[in-house]
Amino acid sequence: QGKHYQFMMRTRQPAGCVTNQLYLTMDDLADQFGNGTLRLTTRQTYQLHAVLKQDLKTVFSTVIKNMGTTLGACGDVNRNVLAPPAPFKDRPEYVHAAKLAEDIADLFAPQSGAYYDVWLDGEKFVSAQMEDPKVTADRAFDEFGTNFEGSPEPLYGSVFLPRKFKVAVTVPGDNSVDIFTNDVGVVVMTDDAGEVLGYNLLVGGGMGRTARNAATFARLADPLGFVAKDDIFHALKAILAAQRDYGRRDDRKFSRLKYLIADWGIDKFRAVVEQYFGKRIEPFRPLPEWEFKDYLGWMEQGDGRLAYGVFVQNGRLKGELKAALRRVIERYELPVIITANQNIILTEIHPSWKADILDTLSGAGVRDVVDLDGIDRTSMACPAMPTCGLAVTESERSMPDVNVRIRALMSKLGFDEGESFVVRMTGCPNGCARPYMAELGFVGDGPNSYQFWLGGSPNQTRLAEPFQDRVKIQDIEKVLEPMLFFFKNRRRPGEALGDFTARVGFDAIRQYSQDYVAR
Ligand code: SF4
Repeated sequence: QGKHYQFMMRTRQPAGCVTNQLYLTMDDLADQFGNGTLRLTTRQTYQLHAVLKQDLKTVFSTVIKNMGTTLGACGDVNRNVLAPPAPFKDRPEYVHAAKLAEDIADLFAPQSGAYYDVWLDGEKFVSAQMEDPKVTADRAFDEFGTNFEGSPEPLYGSVFLPRKFKVAVTVPGDNSVDIFTNDVGVVVMTDDAGEVLGYNLLVGGGMGRTARNAATFARLADPLGFVAKDDIFHALKAILAAQRDYGRRDDRKFSRLKYLIADWGIDKFRAVVEQYFGKRIEPFRPLPEWEFKDYLGWMEQGDGRLAYGVFVQNGRLKGELKAALRRVIERYELPVIITANQNIILTEIHPSWKADILDTLSGAGVRDVVDLDGIDRTSMACPAMPTCGLAVTESERSMPDVNVRIRALMSKLGFDEGESFVVRMTGCPNGCARPYMAELGFVGDGPNSYQFWLGGSPNQTRLAEPFQDRVKIQDIEKVLEPMLFFFKNRRRPGEALGDFTARVGFDAIRQYSQDYVAR
């Protein structure tokens, strides 16, 4: 008997936007061809797990025919483009950010018809949405002096990029997209009237590390500079071309843009990008403080309609939650937005539907934002076991219990109920749930064992650092109790855990922990 190969399918949803039709389609596919669950990812997309090989064509063609796509969701190309999941119709900068995310996704979408040949037998179902490959080819050649003769991929060429490439768009002050963890961060800069002036660009962020390879590292993006409104696509292509032509191809572990920039320094990288760009990149413009926003709970869209952000623990839609969401989304034909924190926002809600939606969801046990524990609310975990082949330990399945244990420990130590911090967990160092930005990160380093990372900031602007290796899951309180006790007694008024651990330093925490245990 032959093997039953199974696959994970990931969609592309720029800015996390999902039409009502696609939502219902994905919900059906999960039941018919997946494992009955759907996963909302940290890049605002869906993952459908456990699709059998013989069902792949049916599943892919169904997604495409219902106005979805998986093109560019995986591979050495531009991945899903993030944008704040803000449902506000009266905030032009947010509307612009979401539209720009979609345009960047189109700009960098692979142009070859191979995708449609494979999944739709050559039928180009959504060709109207795509740029004419010939036009793009000519422009790419003119701009970058790159002639991929005979290649259907004017920007990527025949060998594509050295590695995956991630772009996020946001507006000043809104860090709902973890902007510093992307290869390219685009910040929409507007004047007082909301008119777009141009864009601040950040480059060279990335989370992935390789186990037992100290030369690999997580990195925050650096400010590259500012470009005028009409130059944005040209500038983005120049950055992509620089990575395409100079990114390392001899070792995939070092092939992300962050390694090129770490090697060259930002000034050399900027100079090379300017050669492709054909003009100077202006100085980076000042920005306000960044703030993490999760868009949970009820919101006014600004056009008379409402939106409702629903918490989905670790992004897993299953059971009663999945069924209840389906009922209201189908009943009221709601489009949704997936957030970069693995939650979902129901949009276009008429105020008269609010009571019924709340009834239906609370009847299924869905927690309203006021009932959420703060640790759950901001925590994230990657899928890890059993669906990710790279996982060395559990993540999604163990995180809910770990959160409960952290809360119990905090209660024992006398913290207020409303006190919380950002906890993130992954089943390997690849870092899919961005644990290196957490105030407390758990990174799988062996069976039932985690490396602890401390010192990220609550608004995801500072990288955490490794504090302790190989902590068995049953022992996490042994490490956390002294540290949290130290924090409680020595913090400055209002100081967050990540800011405290970064301020006092790990030596002080270790010393205090030893004294605490010896007492
Ligand atoms: Fe898999 Fe590792 Fe990513 Fe988790 S972080 S989903 S274990 S690759």
